[in-house]
Order: sequence, then C-alpha cells, then structure tokens
Amino acid sequence: MSEYIPGEQPENLNEFTKLNTNENPFPPPAPVLEAIAKQCNGNLRRYPGPSAMPVRKLFAEKNALAPENVFVANGSDEIFTLLFRGFIEPDGLAAFPYPSYSLYYTMAEANGISYDTINLDESLDVNFDAFLEKKYDMIIIANPNNPTGKGVDIDRIQSFLSRYEGLLVVDEAYVDFYGETAIGLVKQYENLVITRSFSKSYSLAGLRVGLAIASKDIITGFLKLKDSYNVDRLAEAGAYAALLEEKGFRYNIEMLRNNKEYLEDALADAGFEIVPSKANFLFVKHPGVGSEEIYTKLKERNILVRYFNGPVQSEYIRITVGTMMEVKLLIKEIRDITGAE
Ligand code: PMP
Repeated sequence: MSEYIPGEQPENLNEFTKLNTNENPFPPPAPVLEAIAKQCNGNLRRYPGPSAMPVRKLFAEKNALAPENVFVANGSDEIFTLLFRGFIEPDGLAAFPYPSYSLYYTMAEANGISYDTINLDESLDVNFDAFLEKKYDMIIIANPNNPTGKGVDIDRIQSFLSRYEGLLVVDEAYVDFYGETAIGLVKQYENLVITRSFSKSYSLAGLRVGLAIASKDIITGFLKLKDSYNVDRLAEAGAYAALLEEKGFRYNIEMLRNNKEYLEDALADAGFEIVPSKANFLFVKHPGVGSEEIYTKLKERNILVRYFNGPVQSEYIRITVGTMMEVKLLIKEIRDITGAE
C-alpha cells in the first residue's frame, strides 16, 4: 500500500516559517494551557475516563445534542481508522473526492477497503451526481475541502442525503474558520457522521483530539471499536477547557481571517490565481513559475508550504495562513521568486 505522507515537521521548528500543515499560528489561550498543566500530577498513574465523558457532555450541551451523539477520539484521524475498521463490510466500496485529504485513501487501504476516487469538477467543487452512479457504502467529503479550501453548501449536503443510503461522513476539520456546519442534519439523517478536529481553530494539533457527531447507534459503534483509553488525561482536560474558551478562539479566528485577506490581496497582486477558500489556507498557482519550483525555492529560504504530486494538485501550492509577520515574509520571498515588480 502507499503510505500517508504528512507535511514536513522539522525538529528545529524555530528555524522555519511553517505554513505547510494548516496549523494555527497562535498558541492556545492561557486557560487551556493551565488546564492541561493542572493534569500533570500524580493522577497520571491512573487511567483516564474511558470515553472523555466531560467533553462529550459539554460539546452536546453547546450544540443541543445528547452526549450519546458525541464520540471523542485521538485526533479526527482516529475516527477515519475506526470508520474503515468497523463501519463497512470487507467487500464494501467507499468513495472520496479527488483531490482531498489523502489520509482517507491511505486509511481505506490500510484496512483493506476498496474505494473509488471521484474527481472534483472544473471549478474544484464536489461532483455529487457522480457519487450516485454506483452503490457506495461509505463516502467521505471534507467541508471545507483540503487542499482546495472550497466549501460545500449545506443545502447540497442535505439534497445529497435525501438521495443516498450509505454512510456519509462530512469532515469539518476547518469549519470554524468560515463555514456552515452540517451538525443540524444529524438528528434527521441516521446515515450521517460529522467529524471535528481540535487541531486547527483550537490550536491543539499537538494534543490530538477530534470528535465524531452522529446518531446514538453510530456513536455506540465507535465506542465499541476504539482502543480502551483512546483519549489521555491531558487531552481530555485541554479539549474541555478549549470548549469553554470561546472568546480567545474567536479572537484568533478573526485575526486569521484578516491575515488571509491580506495574503489573498498580496498574492493576487503578484499574479497568482487563487481558489476561493473557506479555510485557513489558500490553494494557489502562478501562471509563469511552476508550483514545485516555488515550493523548493521557498524551502531553500526556510519557508515551508505544501506541494502535492498528482493530477490537478501538482499545479498548485497550498499555503497555510500564518501570523502577519509570517505572511509578510512569505510575500516578500514569493515576489522575489516569481519576479513580481
Ligand atoms: N481532516 C482534514 C480535512 C485535514 O486536513 C486534517 C489535517 N491534516 C485532519 C482531518 C486531521 O485532523 P486531526 O489532527 O484532528 O487528526
């Protein structure tokens, strides 16, 4: 099988401007760090709660759901593994858009599940009709999508659900930046799973926490399939505190939106084509200089952006929105590399 290739995570982090893995450039607010630090005590000799119930309860309360509709995972990546491990028969068939988050393809392969990829249309939107051409048992779409940043209207998801009988997974890792959530549809559709991540808007990629939101039966399935203590004490405390910390995160998101607009304007001025993004990253290409070359030259200058091999996506680079200082540094170098006046 082919392996999942994550974006580079250099050991000497401070030497790089890291705009390659869609992390949040701002640290988590102080109360979240304090809540995690508070767990660094003798209680670490004890196992954590088996299902991170305080997080389930708090998230449910904030979203007018029951704790039984919420599963807490070791990053949303764990949820994809569990989906392929237990929610599709060994001879079942899954489908994902292409390009999209490549871990779906890898995790399907790792669990012996066959899948089709359905190309995005010419505007890089999901081609929902093509997903109905065969009887797929499971479909995962990311909203907003990675690496394009494009969003899908909730109306389109609902209309698809009214025609589709398999399991639809909507990966909302980036939903907090601009998007509209499909969580409201969980009560109506028993075949819908929403996944969320604490790695992006909540600045906690290093802690590894994700959520699945779905009907009670599906959540019971996740609880059966998971490792016995999949969320550790620090992760549980950090996720709980993060859910309480609306204000600090709203502020960070506002700053990132501002930086994104600045970056968009500057890249357009340097001649780039920009895919309209509803996430904290931009998928862009330059008419004159190839994307691999831009990626390589930026790397030589200690700036990491993401370049993917493969049809369509190799035409682009994906740039995570950073702090204003990082954005300005990137613009300066990218103008130099592309010869912008
Ligand atoms: N979904 C998408 C679409 C992503 O881009 C990423 C991050 N690369 C994830 C999920 C992973 O989230 P987590 O860190 O919660 O495993």
